[in-house]
Amino acid sequence: MSLLVIGTVAFDEVETPFASSGRIIGGAATYVSLAASYFLKSGIHLVSVVGDDFPESGIEHFHRRGISTEGLQIKAGEKSFFWRGRYRADMNSRDTLETQLNVLADFNPVLPESAKECDFLMLGNLMPSLQRSVLQQMNRRPKLVVLDTMNFWMDSAWDDLIDTLTMVDVLTINDEEARQLSGEFSLVKAARKILSMGPRYLVIKKGENGALLFHQNEIFYAPALPLEEVFDPTGAGDSFAGGFIGFLASQSEINFETMKQAVIYGSAIASFCVEKFGIERVINLEPQELSDRIRQFVRLVDFSIQPGN
Ligand code: AMP
Repeated sequence: MSLLVIGTVAFDEVETPFASSGRIIGGAATYVSLAASYFLKSGIHLVSVVGDDFPESGIEHFHRRGISTEGLQIKAGEKSFFWRGRYRADMNSRDTLETQLNVLADFNPVLPESAKECDFLMLGNLMPSLQRSVLQQMNRRPKLVVLDTMNFWMDSAWDDLIDTLTMVDVLTINDEEARQLSGEFSLVKAARKILSMGPRYLVIKKGENGALLFHQNEIFYAPALPLEEVFDPTGAGDSFAGGFIGFLASQSEINFETMKQAVIYGSAIASFCVEKFGIERVINLEPQELSDRIRQFVRLVDFSIQPGN
């Protein structure tokens, strides 16, 4: 199966209560495509834009993981998207200190012919109007369209976002964003409302408190793995999304059961991401590390109870 990923490829600067990253490679599509590459050895197409300040060595990370960058535009004389954020003491919430759109301000995604045929589409965090334009350029509707977004776009492009939501199968957002999007505090009520806005499945990410999957009247909960050390949570949500869609793209069927497994695989990749700054941990995972971690997840929630009447 093939997967098209759109989103930001960026420079980030991250501050945690313990360390500062300096300028490092980040971006939603960066994390998504790298995470998905653990499930698809080939057939991942990345569509994004960077300035000519983006290093060749950054692009090589994608090639090493078998990701095609034919759709990655490099704009001469322009600067890459830049995001700066600071984590609070709980390491679960963060403040955006700076967002410089730079090349993103007039980005016009153009899909290479090969990418228009992809079976799976991950609309990573980006302007909702651009996410929509990518879906419209596809030769046929993909088997599954997953959309990720954030409060920044709810604040600045509400109508576009609501419109784009009607076209997707799965939405992944965090709990704070689910509340903002629905105007409901209860996540169950929020999910019901969001599922009536378009997506058939909703994943609400709750950082160190795991993730919830909603579909019709079903709810599935996956914990986050309790880790001894969380170094930098940046990219965890995108790595989750990449693992989630990458796993689904490797399956012959998509239903609530495979979605549940995808949530666990996504959570596993996200648990690696937070162990180091930036993409450091998600560029070279060993297959054995991943399967060991999946086993840890299974053990974490394995219990046997015979409920009484
Ligand atoms: P997360 O998985 O939510 O931690 O995503 C972190 C990544 O999102 C960073 O690498 C940023 O470059 C990227 N990012 C931050 N703000 C935006 C935005 N407004 N639109 C798209 N990507 C963003």
